[in-house]
Amino acid sequence: MTFSETHETETQDAARTLFVELTGREPDGLWSAPGRVSLIGEHTDYNDGFVLPFAIPHRTVAAVGLRDDDRGRVRVASTFAAEPVEVALDELDEIFPTLRPAQGPGSDRRPAVPEWAAYPLGVAWALRQALTTDGAERSFRGMDIAIASDVPVGAGLSSSAAIEGAAASALNDLWDAGLDRTALARVGRRAENEAVGAPTGIMDQMASMLGEPDAAIFLDCRSLEAQLVPLGVAEAGLAILVIDTRVKHAHSTGGYGERRASCELGAEIMGVPALRDVSVDDLPRAAELMDDVTFRRVRHIVTENQRVLDTVRVLREDGARAIGDLLVASHVSMRDDFEISVPELDTAVDAALAAGALGARMTGGGFGGAAIALIERDAVESVSDAVTAAFAASGFTAPVLFTVTPSAGAHRDA
Ligand code: ADP
Ligand code: MG
Repeated sequence: MTFSETHETETQDAARTLFVELTGREPDGLWSAPGRVSLIGEHTDYNDGFVLPFAIPHRTVAAVGLRDDDRGRVRVASTFAAEPVEVALDELDEIFPTLRPAQGPGSDRRPAVPEWAAYPLGVAWALRQALTTDGAERSFRGMDIAIASDVPVGAGLSSSAAIEGAAASALNDLWDAGLDRTALARVGRRAENEAVGAPTGIMDQMASMLGEPDAAIFLDCRSLEAQLVPLGVAEAGLAILVIDTRVKHAHSTGGYGERRASCELGAEIMGVPALRDVSVDDLPRAAELMDDVTFRRVRHIVTENQRVLDTVRVLREDGARAIGDLLVASHVSMRDDFEISVPELDTAVDAALAAGALGARMTGGGFGGAAIALIERDAVESVSDAVTAAFAASGFTAPVLFTVTPSAGAHRDA
């Protein structure tokens, strides 16, 4: 049975249809990767710390086929973009000349492709580089890539890691590259950091690559050692509600880079390679050594790392019902110390808690995007209504609300 005879999700169908429109033939296969929710552990990834995300059911699908002309050309199309983009693989080295995150957006070396195309093309570039580090000549077949997705974009649910993961999985198979999931996550991160120019950590890509149903991924961002932690949300009679505020964040232009710089400064002042190496007990000394703003940034990272460790322990010992207070403490720390929340996110959290949520916090990089709430399964409607009413009362755009269950990571679909 070929994949076109099996049942396809709407997103798979959209990707395949776009591929056929683009090329007039069937794809060699479909690959997909999910978005993610960060349960707790925000901005700790680039501080070599701990994170605890899980993959969500929303996925990005890439329908991909090798090209016969074999001139090493790659064409990418997305239901998200009006025009496909086509380049030769050789040209990618000129388009993405190792744009350092620090150069940031607006630098003269911005890629000469539309931003969305820098994600899949950046993956092709980074994967090709990863496979040619030994200097050996290797030829790479060109391909056509058609992308569709139901991951909300710019909502802090990592549509970026989803598109990277889908593209990386497809290229890994079609080029017979044989990289493991962690290596593919690194390829995705490199694409995002150096091809797109967004200075993000590795959490999103690891979550999208390694997700498993009903589990969160406890990741040490220094060693990249990952452990699956059973969540047991449904078992406990609970649900996780996502509240997309529809305030768009932008990693490459927002305060994300500034926060990273503060963290680097804090680590330098403390004389350690990364804030991972600062413990809660070191905070009084940190307070004496640095200015107030830098100290509060440091305190967020240090206490957030501890909260991730605590959450993993509490999940294992007492189950999902017991983590609510840790989620709330994480939100307060991001709101007051790291200062990455916005009024819409605070309203979402406050309204969910007032309506009986066990815990709630903004999730993702901040400055917009989504919040999550841990709620009783039979309270989905009442909490959603309360949040929607609070947004209306504040004159905010209506939020989009949906529940998520921890889901599978990247894989070949067909
Ligand atoms: P988030 O990861 O939170 O959704 P990002 O700003 O990191 O937000 O990534 C969003 C960007 O990723 C989009 O602006 C677009 O450039 C790219 N992208 C995501 N999904 C797709 C898609 N299906 N097709 C094309 N580009 C996409
Ligand atoms: Mg992203």
